[in-house]
This record gives sequence, C-alpha cells and structure tokens, in this order.
Amino acid sequence: MVVVMKERASEAEIDAVIARLIDLGMDVHRSSGATRTVLGVVGAQKVDPQLVAILDGVHEVLRITEPYKRASRSFKPTDTVVSVGDVRIGGDEVVVMSGPCSAETEDQVMATAAAVKHAGAKILRGGAFKPRSSPYSFQGLGEPGLQMLRRAADVHGLALVAEVMDAAQIELVGRYSDIYQVGARNMQNYTLLRELGHTRKPVLLKRGIAATIEEWLLSAEYILAGGNPDVILCERGIRTFETATRNTFDVSAIPVVKKLSHLPIVADPSHGAGRRDMVAAMARAAVAAGADGLMIEVHVDPDHALSDGAQSMYPEQFEQVMRELRIIAPAIGRTICVAPSPATKHR
Ligand code: PEP
Ligand code: MN
Repeated sequence: MVVVMKERASEAEIDAVIARLIDLGMDVHRSSGATRTVLGVVGAQKVDPQLVAILDGVHEVLRITEPYKRASRSFKPTDTVVSVGDVRIGGDEVVVMSGPCSAETEDQVMATAAAVKHAGAKILRGGAFKPRSSPYSFQGLGEPGLQMLRRAADVHGLALVAEVMDAAQIELVGRYSDIYQVGARNMQNYTLLRELGHTRKPVLLKRGIAATIEEWLLSAEYILAGGNPDVILCERGIRTFETATRNTFDVSAIPVVKKLSHLPIVADPSHGAGRRDMVAAMARAAVAAGADGLMIEVHVDPDHALSDGAQSMYPEQFEQVMRELRIIAPAIGRTICVAPSPATKHR
C-alpha cells in the first residue's frame, strides 16, 4: 500500500506512522517531496488500510494489491476453464445453460429440457430449492424436483446446474446436480461458501444484489481457499435506483471481472432484465462483452410458471436469440453451442 501523509504532517507524525507499520511487520520506503511525504509499504502481512488511515498526519491510504488472492489474475494469469463432462466453460465456446426457474412437473421439466437442447443449450438449469422474497411464494419441490431435473438432463444429454441454498443441502443437491448454483441472496453465506470449497463439483456463484465486484471476488475466494478451483461467476443484475427493469444488468462487470480474475464469467440476462421482452437484447450484449456463457430462463408455458414467469422466454424466443448469438459469437472470435442434432428435435 501507499501512505500519503498530509502536507503539514510533522516529522514526529511521520516517524510514528513508520514505527507503527514496522511494528505490523511491514517494510517502509520513505520518499519526501517538496510538500508531502509518501510511504511505500510492502510485506507479507495483511494490514487493514483503515487502521493506518486513522493515524495522525495521514492524508490517504491507497491499496495497490487486491484483497483476494486465488481469484486474482495476478495469482493465475491464464484463464480458468471449468469442465463439466465434455462441456468446457471459460474456453473459446460460449456455453448456454437454460431451463425453467423452478422444476414444477415432470412434463414441464422434460419438455423444457427438450426445447433448450434443440436450440443448442449444453446445460439444463432449474431450481428445486428456491430463494423467494416472500415465504408465501412457491419454495420449490425439493428432492422430487431434483429427480425430475436429473432425468430430463440425462434423457437429453445435458449437464445440470441447480441451486443449493444451505450447507445442509450440499450432499442432496450434489447427488443430482453437476454444478452447484449459489444464488444472489447467498453470495455472502460464508458457511455455505466454505463448505462448497470442500466439494469437488463446480460452483456457479451469482453476484449479490448489492455486491461490489470486489465483494463478489472475495466470496469466490472462500470457495477457492477451501480447495475447490472450479468457480464460475455469474452476473445477474444489481439493485440500483432504476425501476424500469427488475435489476440493472451490469454488462461492464464482464470486462472488469475478465481483467481482475482468471475465473470464467457467465451472464444471466433473465434476472438482469426481469422481462422476457428484454432478455434477448441483454443476452446479445453479454456475449458481445465477452461472457463465457449465458444462463437463460425458458419455460414451455411461462404464463403459468410458478416462479419468474414474466422473465422466462418461450422456446421460440430462445431459439431466435440462439440464432442471433451464433452470428455475434464468431465476430469476437468465439463459437457458441453448435447446431442441434436432428435426433433431439423438440416435440
Ligand atoms: C434463479 O436463478 O432462479 C435465482 C433465484 O436467481 P438469483 O439468485 O440470481 O435471484
Ligand atoms: Mn428465477
């Protein structure tokens, strides 16, 4: 870190700051200019910048390294590619994960899986444990929902991502799902993150509704520090003052994360926009901005969906956006889910 002293800081104040930093185990390099003294501080210890900022004579403290380590690109310069079966997230191919917000019935899950597979998705998404704002809303089917999702994924040759809401559900969800989803509301559930660090399945970590990118990467750090290297970040929109959309989809988070971290980042334009008529535009923007994948909610009958119907696409809309994405992806040197095989035609 760099400690900038006040213009009128006294020698005694400067000496006291240096002594404190040395006491904290740091090496201090002093440069005294015509009006100010600046202290360059290096060392293996982590020092809380706020502890230094309140010392007498200090003008400001500037951090020069990120507070996270394993998630940072300086720690690992090459892109992390997360493999799930033969699907690779973070490579040249933009991977699409799609399906209903919630598993509702056997037929709904199976038909939606068929539709998204036909359009080119590689991973089925769907929730059996739902983090709903209201305790009176549909909370998910639990294990029977996971069974429906697994069966549909297997029938259609898709991998599966499903949400885990609590550390106590890890074993159960892991029996059915290939990827654990940590929802936005749980991004700072550190007990859950720590436990997922001890698992060997990839974790899709959604950005919290009011989380900074730094906080999000620190949450990823919990999983990485526990020994699980397979973290996929997911931008799903943040809460701002704007009310025209459900959330404000932060496209800029994609290049920011790419710069700061080696972890793959996928975008969820469904929760980002909250309206199905705006999902395609946000999906196109996300791919153009460099997202490694997309998570899109699709439902065969969204008007009767038990959760997130308004933002769930009709299968035809999803097919249309996939066609558009197949034009956009090559323009930035990427591929996107290869064309469907005739054998998996949607009923
Ligand atoms: C979901 O994916 O259905 C979901 C609940 O997402 P989020 O955690 O981003 O709100
Ligand atoms: Mn949803």
